[in-house]
Amino acid sequence: MSNFFDTPLSQVAGLQAAKAALLAKEVNIFTYGDLLLYFPFRYEDRSKFYTVAEITEDYPFVQLKGHISSISVLGEGEKRRMTAIFTDGTGDVELVWFKGLDFVANKIRKGVEYILFGKPTLFGKRFNIAHPEMEVFIEGKVQEQLFMPLYNSTERMKKRGLESRGLSQLIKKILPAALPQLQENLPLYLLDKYKLIGKATAVQQIHFPQSPRHLHHAQRRLKFEELFFVQINLLQQQKVLKDKNLGLPLKNIPTLHKFYKEHLPFDLTNAQKRVIKEIYEDVKSGKQMNRLLQGDVGSGKTMVAFICALMAVDNEAQACLMAPTEILAEQHLNSLRPFAEKLGITIERLTGSSKVKERRQIHETLLSGELKILVGTHALLEDVVQFKNLALCIIDEQHRFGVAQRAKLWAKNANFFPHVLVMTATPIPRTLAMTVYGDLDVSVIDELPVGRKPIKTVHKYDSARLEVFGFMRKEIEKGRQIYLVYPLIEESEAMDYKNLMDGYESVARAFPEYPISIVHGQMKPADKDFEMQRFMKAETKIMVATTVIEVGVNVPNASVMVIESAERFGLSQLHQLRGRVGRGAEQSYCVLMTGFKLSKDSRIRIETMVKTNNGFEIADIDMKLRGPGDMTGTQQSGVLDFKIADLGTDQAILQEARKCAAEILEEDAALEKPENQPIQSYLANRKTNNGKVTWSLIS
Ligand code: ADP
Ligand code: MG
Repeated sequence: MSNFFDTPLSQVAGLQAAKAALLAKEVNIFTYGDLLLYFPFRYEDRSKFYTVAEITEDYPFVQLKGHISSISVLGEGEKRRMTAIFTDGTGDVELVWFKGLDFVANKIRKGVEYILFGKPTLFGKRFNIAHPEMEVFIEGKVQEQLFMPLYNSTERMKKRGLESRGLSQLIKKILPAALPQLQENLPLYLLDKYKLIGKATAVQQIHFPQSPRHLHHAQRRLKFEELFFVQINLLQQQKVLKDKNLGLPLKNIPTLHKFYKEHLPFDLTNAQKRVIKEIYEDVKSGKQMNRLLQGDVGSGKTMVAFICALMAVDNEAQACLMAPTEILAEQHLNSLRPFAEKLGITIERLTGSSKVKERRQIHETLLSGELKILVGTHALLEDVVQFKNLALCIIDEQHRFGVAQRAKLWAKNANFFPHVLVMTATPIPRTLAMTVYGDLDVSVIDELPVGRKPIKTVHKYDSARLEVFGFMRKEIEKGRQIYLVYPLIEESEAMDYKNLMDGYESVARAFPEYPISIVHGQMKPADKDFEMQRFMKAETKIMVATTVIEVGVNVPNASVMVIESAERFGLSQLHQLRGRVGRGAEQSYCVLMTGFKLSKDSRIRIETMVKTNNGFEIADIDMKLRGPGDMTGTQQSGVLDFKIADLGTDQAILQEARKCAAEILEEDAALEKPENQPIQSYLANRKTNNGKVTWSLIS
């Protein structure tokens, strides 16, 4: 059905066909609807005038009042440009035009009072504003739009008069006809309850805000709407999964009790107890569990995993634990085997390098049900690996496993869907997790075992290298081991590799008396393993490595982590790396080495690391720096392309929207009540075939 919002832009009176085509090509604006949903990316306060004297480089835009004192045209051909000196009595700025010189030359006059608006850049000693917006100042004229919307526009669009202001004028043209056609897609009782303004007003005010307060209401309403529909959609999907997928009910837990009473090596933290309870509630329910377990490095996820595996074993079923690397699988086996043995439970490991004979044995005992817990790598996913009754899959360090792999695990029990527990040490803010892992329930271990000594983190410039080497030597003499990590980033791989090798050589020269390991991505897996093993056995004292050691590795005796070119790492990566130390009883250290010159963001990252050990706090700051789309663990999700909401800054609205969505579905799961009709019809019409909800101005 065609409607007003589908009207092609070419039908806007006075808009040239070429411009309409340009909008389609450059920013995907084809219709009236597209244009109205092209929201400003920010707003400029036009009530404020600056003086030339107070401009600093920090201002993205300034509005000035003054006059032109001189005009000149410089250069030839391509290089031809026009400059003018603009003065307001407190100082001068230089204005520059590279395009449309004749037009500009006709328009600007010396001595006339102008209001000027643009982005200042420092050029030598003077500020320079390229292609400023100018308007003759008229005494007593009230500016009608004090909050100027700024729209994204491309170079090509700007050349054709479709810069921010041009777009704004275009929107102004179609808005009067559009407003009466705009449909409300939230029930009135919700607008009332959450103090939200109507959709038409919101769309009008988002483009032409009357005041900061109006703008705030418009933004809140549209963000709420966007997040609300995403959450309703996610919660519905989750419910379908829950209702449909039956999991083996794991109710009996005698061995678990025995383990608690007789073998538990330490008191569980309250956080561990809480998540174990959450997991137990799930697995005994008869429905399939799909749960994400987030816990900072060292928070004790492995023990939780083992306890959950016992729930399976106690119910005539089996569990598997999958790790991303052989080293980690090995480590898990080594830490779990002693407990399993005490309880008389069989546990084995299966990886790519398991011998044929060993493999056959594992395959057989899995099928007969004799083997209860299997630890391994991707090798677990192979079709030949069949279980008698697999009830629980635990996946460690999830971000290396894709959704497809998760599905493969699901298929390993013909009668039930195995419960899935995904464990990750990359904390992401809870609100983000709710959205990115919308189909998973989330449990959080937000507490470290008591008695841990917080890792001391310091920042050192490269010039202090000798001092750092001296510190390393002292620690080695105390019997500790050291990681020395170099960045390895794809774009500059050859360069990084050279740095790593140079680093290795200089360390070898500085510590001739100690054996040193090196591990990097270009080594064969077997060689890597060999070196890792040497370090684990403390045969080598220093491990020079790239980020291959990032995840999960546990060498309690390694108590110093030195990170070279730390400014080149992301925050969550730095935090992961640091998590490799602080695992034993000794005081641990993390040394972040950088050059002198640091960008603002690098400085914030380094300062954050020095300031806190809390992974969730770090994740929050990381998200603010990078935006949620770049956070580790969120890449595959695709649910983060929001039009107006920002998961970094809009967590409060997200929480509200989530709660609201959950309450509505609780009362009215199928959205059948008449008052929820607007939600139902909007969702029904706006869900794409990949399950996302698209924006629309009609229902
Ligand atoms: P992660 O969550 O990073 O996987 P691990 O499971 O490897 O952490 O645990 C880190 C260390 O803490 C291990 O040596 C483990 O035995 C120990 N640990 C786990 N839980 C507790 C606890 N409640 N009290 C004391 N130590 C614990
Ligand atoms: Mg772990």
